[in-house]
Amino acid sequence: MKSRWNEDAAQAFDDPLALRAYTSRLLGQEPDLVLHGGGNTSLKTTVRDFVGDEVPVLWVKGSGHDLATIGPAGFAPVRMRTLLAMGARDALSDSDMVKEQRAAMLDPDAPVPSIEAVLHALIPAPWVDHTHADAVVAISNTPMGAERLLSIYGERVLFVPYVMPGFELAKEVQRILSEVDASRYEGMVLLHHGVFTWGASARESYERMIRLVDDAEKALVRYRAWDVLARTEPTGSVDAIDPAELGTLRLAVGRVAGQAMVARVDASPEALGFASLPGVAELATRGPLTPDHVIRTKCVPLVIAGGADVTAEVQRYAEAYRAYFARNAGPDDHPLDPAPRWVVWPGQGLVAFGRNVGEAEIVLDIARHTIAAIQRAEAMGGWKALPERDLYRMEYWELEQRKLRRPSGRPELEGQVAVVSGAAHGIGRAVAARLRELGASVVGLDRDPAVTRGSDRGSLGLVCDVTDRRAVDDALSTAVRHFGGVDLLVSNAGSFPEGAPISELSDERWADTLALNLDAHLKVLRASAAHLARGFHPAVVVVASKNVAAPGPGVAAYSVAKAGLTQLARVAALELGEDGVRVNVVHPDAVFDTMLWSAGKLEARAKSYGLTVDEYKRRNILKREVRARDVAVAVARLLSQEFSVTTGAQIAIDGGNPRVI
Ligand SMILES: [Zn+2]
Repeated sequence: MKSRWNEDAAQAFDDPLALRAYTSRLLGQEPDLVLHGGGNTSLKTTVRDFVGDEVPVLWVKGSGHDLATIGPAGFAPVRMRTLLAMGARDALSDSDMVKEQRAAMLDPDAPVPSIEAVLHALIPAPWVDHTHADAVVAISNTPMGAERLLSIYGERVLFVPYVMPGFELAKEVQRILSEVDASRYEGMVLLHHGVFTWGASARESYERMIRLVDDAEKALVRYRAWDVLARTEPTGSVDAIDPAELGTLRLAVGRVAGQAMVARVDASPEALGFASLPGVAELATRGPLTPDHVIRTKCVPLVIAGGADVTAEVQRYAEAYRAYFARNAGPDDHPLDPAPRWVVWPGQGLVAFGRNVGEAEIVLDIARHTIAAIQRAEAMGGWKALPERDLYRMEYWELEQRKLRRPSGRPELEGQVAVVSGAAHGIGRAVAARLRELGASVVGLDRDPAVTRGSDRGSLGLVCDVTDRRAVDDALSTAVRHFGGVDLLVSNAGSFPEGAPISELSDERWADTLALNLDAHLKVLRASAAHLARGFHPAVVVVASKNVAAPGPGVAAYSVAKAGLTQLARVAALELGEDGVRVNVVHPDAVFDTMLWSAGKLEARAKSYGLTVDEYKRRNILKREVRARDVAVAVARLLSQEFSVTTGAQIAIDGGNPRVI
């Protein structure tokens, strides 16, 4: 590991807190040091308070902030006097510690201070850095770990045996520091946990961290434990995963978790190599890299036995988790859901689960670092994690669980995966956006490449001509491999052709209109049916038209297609209902903020009725313009569990039409 210190960049910060944020980000840029909110840093300085007193404070990373992106606002100013007084207490409950830390903040709007704030305060140096460096922890997690680390670092660092983080750890560190002159050391190694360094300057503390970790990495090379990662060649690919098996696994995990979960797959050569190691079931389940991963990953992954039924495997895991809870639970503990968060799947790779894509990707990142550390530790005599008791305490520690809680509550469609056809524009685009707002992960299909522009972590845009059967089948498989399954489908893609009376309607226009507005929906439904049957609270909404109930002259092909589509949806409700899939139909009318309506077309149409454009837009019972957003909101509602006992229904979204009513 190399120092990323840049003297010019560092010189640009005139404020010590800005410099503190800078070197924190340098640490955060190394995934081998800290992952997703792991680690913390601090700075001791003085601040003039409201009454004009110079107050010594500890600026410490706020809980939940990520070192990779932290700025000065991510640090909480806490009175040193209070922190040191807490450190002098013999006992202090976690909740009292948190309460006192908050009460001692100079700025009540600052983030909640890290649970390691007291420990930072006790270290007699202005700059303190803390990481969970993979190389150091991997060496620590071996039978001779402490001896090896002693031989690497000698007198340069202090050693702290594993103690539960929080107040207990702070007291242990205080005891150790009281017997030595801390300024003679570069830092301390917390066995099975991580590394602290300190210094008189930002650079000194940061570069000591890099040096200590670099020394551990070089030692791994000397121990022939660096280049030992199994790789399966040729290059693995997510395409090798059977979507049906993956969907079955995801459904089983969601059922055990009690809510839909998004899956992310790693089928890289490293993931496949690890999953194929002989004895992987025993090796992968000895415990995590560091105990603070446990709230995200649980203590162990599920390792699927070759050829086993994946649903039964998930149930076996859940039973083992319940037994683990029963063995360790205190009287006031409530069991968390017993679903695995990552799965080692021989021949397929690694699969991670989360309530949303962000969580699943964090788990997958942690899993990747864990499998590397396991193999390196194996090359040094064996991977040896902490005992179950310590891991349980960490998993059920109130202060850890708090990190996963969200003040805004659970989004309604969280964990569910939706496929929306015609998602680049108009109603489809509005539906995709609405489903994202409600927490679903969305796969948008469209023949317009603009559909890929909206792709982000929780959505995937795929260029797909829904009139092409193979393209549709491939897109659905891709959707399943990307998020683990499909729960919701909005079959929306369509087009409104130029009007023509029957006497002038060409065979070609008739066929083209039916191909997109009718046949393509069959292709999408057919390709989705089996995936939906494995979906979590599965539901379909088909976007038809007011023309079904109230056709107009000049649009025979369109009206026939939408009528056929409605009948197709009704039969789908009958057939797919066997698998619990609901199918409902919406009939929008006069939604003008879509691609179907150019300004010219709209003007011409209004004129033909002797109306202004505005009058034409509102020519319905409620005299309201119907927007794509209105349709999207209704579609999302129909897909939600609030309509869990409705299938085969048809709902008009048209402002009220006397011909329909
Ligand atoms: Zn830590």
